[in-house]
Amino acid sequence: MYDILVVGGGPAGLTAAIYARRAGKTVLVLEGTGFGGQIAASHLVENYPAIPAIGGVEYSDALSAQAKALGAETRFGLVTAARREEDRFVLTVRKKEFEGRALILATGAKPRKLGVDREEELVGRGVSYCAVCDGAFFKDRDTAVVGGGDSALQSALFLAGVARSVALIHRRDTFRAQDAYLQAARGKENITFFLESKVTALHGEGSLAAITVENGRGEGRRIPAEGLFIEVGQEPDNGPFSALAELDRGGYFLAGEDCGTRTPGVFVAGDCRTKELRQLTTAVADGSVAATAACRWLG
Ligand code: NAP
Repeated sequence: MYDILVVGGGPAGLTAAIYARRAGKTVLVLEGTGFGGQIAASHLVENYPAIPAIGGVEYSDALSAQAKALGAETRFGLVTAARREEDRFVLTVRKKEFEGRALILATGAKPRKLGVDREEELVGRGVSYCAVCDGAFFKDRDTAVVGGGDSALQSALFLAGVARSVALIHRRDTFRAQDAYLQAARGKENITFFLESKVTALHGEGSLAAITVENGRGEGRRIPAEGLFIEVGQEPDNGPFSALAELDRGGYFLAGEDCGTRTPGVFVAGDCRTKELRQLTTAVADGSVAATAACRWLG
């Protein structure tokens, strides 16, 4: 049995592992897909204090290497069930069970779907949720990005360096994204802004070839796009843990200032919990707070 089980190998979970190991606790980090979480899909991180610029993959690799070097154990596998027994928590990954005295949930969030017809059918055939992962497939092609947040602007900027054209489609005429990203995008000749607009149809036989963009007056226009990058925010995937930690209406974990939940011994960290600002800085802050609280709880 481990002292602490951490679910999620993103910045929150790995930072929790670093803090817990430095406090002398045994730690297992369970990760479903790949270490780094969403930050691994970020082309460049430019707002982490004292590090003016670092690649998302480079950052993730350094973070997981640090946690492992400190003795955190790691394992790939999706946790499908979680339960509390008298003095322990038990997590199921495939048919195997892992036990820990305390639990830190750092499950992050997954990309929200746009909900346009044929979206699912065309995933991997032009539709993507990660420009850094798939952008290279669209060298010198026409592409489009949907969304008006940091992810959308970052993706558009990344694609502008790879693709022939980038149509940036946003449903409003003001942006949530940082002004620095917006100004940079406005300076790119191959990014065209479609504001107060939405994607209403996807076209193409077998793979995406074009999309229909409808403006606020209901006028549709078909534009060529072999790649469509959907960046319309994230949603949590906390379902397997809903018996252990309370969820808000949006499905995010509710927690106090110390990242503790109503269940003694269960702590939550990072994008998976209710919070104002979902950033790398706030994820690592949560990871350190949750681990410190878990160590204190373990005594
Ligand atoms: P976000 O900030 O929630 O933005 C989502 C965007 O998608 C919004 O512009 C929203 O429009 C739009 N949207 C939502 N649902 C839509 C729909 N059904 N159809 C069309 N558009 C839709 O998400 P995010 O950009 O993924 O960022 C998530 C968090 O990570 C944010 O806190 C962000 O700051 C952070 N992040 C930071 C960096 C960085 O470099 N620091 C990079 C990436 C992400 P409205 O604005 O109209 O609601």
